[in-house]
Amino acid sequence: MNDFTIKILALDDDPFLLKMHGHMVANLGYHAVTTCESGYAALELFANPNESPDLILLDINMPEMDGLEFIRRLVERNFNGSLILVSGEDERMRQAAEKLARAHKIDVLGHLHKPVTPAGLAELIGKWTGPSQSKPRVEKRTYGAAELRSAITNGELVNYYQPKVLTGTGRVMGVETLVRWRHPQDGMVFPDQFIGVAEAHGLIDDLTRVVLTDAFTQSALWRESGLMLQVSVNLSMDNLMSMDFVDWVVGLAVKSGVPPQMMVLEVTETRLMEDLRTPLEILTRLRLKRFRLSIDDYGIGNSTLAQLRDLPFDELKIDQSFVHGACNSEKLWAMFDSCLSLAKQLKMEVVAEGVEDQADWDFVRNRGCDIAQGYFIAKPMPAAELPAWIESWNQAFSNLRKRIEPFH
Ligand code: C2E
Ligand code: CA
Ligand code: CA
Repeated sequence: MNDFTIKILALDDDPFLLKMHGHMVANLGYHAVTTCESGYAALELFANPNESPDLILLDINMPEMDGLEFIRRLVERNFNGSLILVSGEDERMRQAAEKLARAHKIDVLGHLHKPVTPAGLAELIGKWTGPSQSKPRVEKRTYGAAELRSAITNGELVNYYQPKVLTGTGRVMGVETLVRWRHPQDGMVFPDQFIGVAEAHGLIDDLTRVVLTDAFTQSALWRESGLMLQVSVNLSMDNLMSMDFVDWVVGLAVKSGVPPQMMVLEVTETRLMEDLRTPLEILTRLRLKRFRLSIDDYGIGNSTLAQLRDLPFDELKIDQSFVHGACNSEKLWAMFDSCLSLAKQLKMEVVAEGVEDQADWDFVRNRGCDIAQGYFIAKPMPAAELPAWIESWNQAFSNLRKRIEPFH
């Protein structure tokens, strides 16, 4: 039996279609219908549990946040409702999107080709069997050591790169390397699902070596084509337990011809403070060899100022939880400022992570933070996409500048 009280959200970047879908759903008798033109607006609904939808009519092709990314964000928010996917793309594309949603354990009632018809909609909405509590969300899949080991040796790990931009001039000065696992069955798997496994099973050294080797190779290729970027790589504390690591990284730099000062090694503060002796020596040796060191996720750990003083860092990354939305929150603003001024007093470069929208960008820039990274600038992308992205970013940035500073 149909439940006409379910909360339905229609999400489409085309205002005309959006209105039409909204009307169609209402005409079918469902009266709790909301419409949103962007994924960002839709995600705001999740802030209030009373507003969070049971069923989402999701357009797959949208600018800014596309449907696939929106699905990922739903996973992060433990969405336990259902989806109907809508797209002008061909059947295969819609099936791929459906498969991805299912891989994330999100219930999909089906997919519809545009233009949507009332009959097609009615049939799929009629499949809704809620309430959603009856379908407990299955936890994100975790992976076993054997599976991960073979992924490392079979080349299933790939590096994505997320741009870092100077807030003053807009210049792309570097990229952060973020590893992904192209899983043959599950599709793209994100690092939070396997870095912990690698650390727990002694595989993190092998993993880091694969990531670093590819990052150095890529950096050398970019340099050859005239693209001089700092390339950052995330290290785990467990990589800093054996002295061999330093010699290995130094060897890699020599072999690839990339100067160490163009490579940034990021370490997470929370783990950094466990047992400092060996890591401190390794980090100091790496610094002596001219690699740049960065303290990641700054602000959410529990380091003391004295410990920070004693470690030879060049860069401090302010954690995204103090960046996104800081302009609207006195508390976040104060925390952001305190991280920033600490870093500046210690003569470190400062990166604001999690710059997600224009307000974050303006805030970070106006506070005097040198470098920004986040979805507002770009999502992590495969190496091959970076040159074209830089070109379009430079173009967009110079247009923006002409608008705000016409005599520049
Ligand atoms: P991280 O080093 O703090 O990396 C930033 C994470 O935030 C990335 O997630 C990135 O995709 C995401 N992000 C970037 N911009 C935004 C934004 O504007 N908003 C939001 N909400 N998120 C943003 P990702 O790629 O899933 O990586 C998660 C974590 O996994 C990384 O956090 C890092 O700690 C770890 N990791 C990634 N690659 C490696 C690696 O090769 N080795 C090790 N040991 N850890 C890695
Ligand atoms: Ca990082
Ligand atoms: Ca971080």
